[in-house]
Amino acid sequence: MSDCLFCHILSGDIPSSKVYEDDDVYAFKDIHPKAPTHVLVIPKHHIATLDDAKDALQLGLLMQKVSYIANEVLKLKAGYRVITNVREGGGQVVFHLHVHILGGKKLAF
Ligand code: 5GP
Ligand code: ZN
Repeated sequence: MSDCLFCHILSGDIPSSKVYEDDDVYAFKDIHPKAPTHVLVIPKHHIATLDDAKDALQLGLLMQKVSYIANEVLKLKAGYRVITNVREGGGQVVFHLHVHILGGKKLAF
């Protein structure tokens, strides 16, 4: 979508620090990290929110890639946290589905 920040990042119009990319997902460093490692994983096609993701296989694939990126790319051996904020009440600011990966320190709830 033309007015979507993360679609602009996908197209390269807005620069980002890529950590991983394949045919399905793009992962890049959060511009305001909340932990020593803070990466966002986004699907390559625009989906506004988790509630708009109707394809169970695509959602499963996204989460599998999150696990792969956390373990094999980011090497978060001690573990990590996964967050998806959903709509305004959930703190979602960018309306392109994304999964936060946070790690690199012991995370309190
Ligand atoms: P949300 O609150 O929607 O779940 O998270 C959006 C995230 O995107 C925030 O953690 C914010 O720091 C990050 N963010 C916002 N604008 C940019 C940007 O231009 N580049 C990058 N790399 N991250 C961004
Ligand atoms: Zn988008």
